[in-house]
Amino acid sequence: MNAVLKPPPTEAAQGLSISVRQVVRGFGALQVLLGLDLAIAPGEFVAIVGRSGCGKSTLLRLLGGLDVPDTGSIDIGGVPLTGLSPEVRLMYQEARLLPWQRVDDNVALGLPGDRAHRRAAALAALGEVGLADRAAEWPRVLSGGQKQRVALARALAHRPRVLLLDEPLGALDALTRIAMQRLIETLWREHGFTAVLVTHDVSEALALADRVVLIDHGRVALDLPVDLPRPRVRGDAHIARLEAEV
Ligand code: ADP
Ligand code: MG
Repeated sequence: MNAVLKPPPTEAAQGLSISVRQVVRGFGALQVLLGLDLAIAPGEFVAIVGRSGCGKSTLLRLLGGLDVPDTGSIDIGGVPLTGLSPEVRLMYQEARLLPWQRVDDNVALGLPGDRAHRRAAALAALGEVGLADRAAEWPRVLSGGQKQRVALARALAHRPRVLLLDEPLGALDALTRIAMQRLIETLWREHGFTAVLVTHDVSEALALADRVVLIDHGRVALDLPVDLPRPRVRGDAHIARLEAEV
């Protein structure tokens, strides 16, 4: 685990631990998770890999409180998970922005506080993903990578303590994906949230995560630490220049 290398979060919330115990989840005759155990430390970055249909999204939906296990239990921050929590945010392959809301309103959606406070939080989050100048745009004029940045800002604006990422970069071109990997790593370091990334890209898993967990036949089949020094996503000046274009 590389958590010791991270600077302590300042005003940001600390990440929460996640404990999954003997979780079973099936859909009719289809048994997907068959007694899955997984423990994630506060602030850790864990990647989940496995073949298509093995239950990665099912697990993330359970962690996000969008679904409940048939049997078994999930604790977040040592507390049994009972449903949606503002501290736990999900991000998907599609940005899922509301097309009839401008970028800033998409990010401000569901934030606590009065209108001015929500707007300030939205603009701050957009600044963190490098899109402060696109706040007044409609989502449809943004590129795929920019839409995912907005989705990331929407999650960040809630100051999440757990960020669940379900193949968030899967639909992006290679260059945009590298830029987004760098952004996610930077934000994880700065904010200190616990990150769970589902990806089918093993190099992405190795680049970002402290640990790579393989799910197979409904259980954790492999759980390997990534013993590579950070930063693994290189801050190459050329990539930074290209990043500004995407
Ligand atoms: P992965 O994300 O690893 O590709 P999923 O977790 O999305 O896999 O799905 C695992 C299996 O469960 C798949 O066969 C999928 O079709 C099935 N499944 C997932 N959600 C449901 C649901 N709500 N109803 C019925 N089947 C589902
Ligand atoms: Mg999936």
